[in-house]
Amino acid sequence: MDVEKASGGQFGSDPQGGYERWDEFLAWATHTISTADGQPFAPEELGAPAPRPAQVFGIGVNYRAHAAEGGMETPAFPVVFTKFPTSITWPVGDVVLSGPPVDWEAELVVVIGRRARNVPIDRAWDHVAGLTVGQDLSDWIEQWKNQMPQWSLGKSFPGYSPTGPWLVTADEFTDPNALAIGCSVNGTVMQQASTSDLLYSVPALIAELSAKLPLLPGDIIFSGTPGGIGAARKPPQYLEDGDELVTTVEGISEIRQRFVSA
Ligand code: ZN
Repeated sequence: MDVEKASGGQFGSDPQGGYERWDEFLAWATHTISTADGQPFAPEELGAPAPRPAQVFGIGVNYRAHAAEGGMETPAFPVVFTKFPTSITWPVGDVVLSGPPVDWEAELVVVIGRRARNVPIDRAWDHVAGLTVGQDLSDWIEQWKNQMPQWSLGKSFPGYSPTGPWLVTADEFTDPNALAIGCSVNGTVMQQASTSDLLYSVPALIAELSAKLPLLPGDIIFSGTPGGIGAARKPPQYLEDGDELVTTVEGISEIRQRFVSA
């Protein structure tokens, strides 16, 4: 619903501002409104659930099957990069390709709801506002063209971080640590896994990251992609003009991207 209208201006229309006052917002949402208030929006009418995070964390090589398909060792520490915030877009729409080769990476995306600093694993979920669906779209040339890889730029072209269609709070899931995740290209399933296969779970990532720096309300974490990326297929397959990519996480919903050549 339109939160600004429903709250009589107590909260603004910008979702990013909601995370700054997350406890207050949750209390209002829980006690003041009902789902009967207002017309539900269609996914294509929505923007990103966290459109302007101060920090965006990407986690690499965080599923055993994905490490294996890339010929990489299981990491002894989380592999962390960033996706610059200008790459964040809405759940349904077109994405202009920066190349070939551009690959899909279905990911569970975590939005922080309370400042987290030195948070132990067993308290980590208390700092999460909710979960959403994301794609960590990746331009392989840009990532690997130097001897020193630079993942962040190759994953930060405009539109390369679609998220949504909404945020689901952790209490809505039977088990937020075990969600089916996957994606399909033009109806063919490419990735299919469970977030229970994450090498570093959502709580483990929050513990590890918050030991280094504070996580702020509205920050987001792309938690890594399972096996089945295009680069590892035989022969390799990449996103092409006209392709439709549908990405799903159990208990949330799906996001849909259509690709167009530059
Ligand atoms: Zn990724």
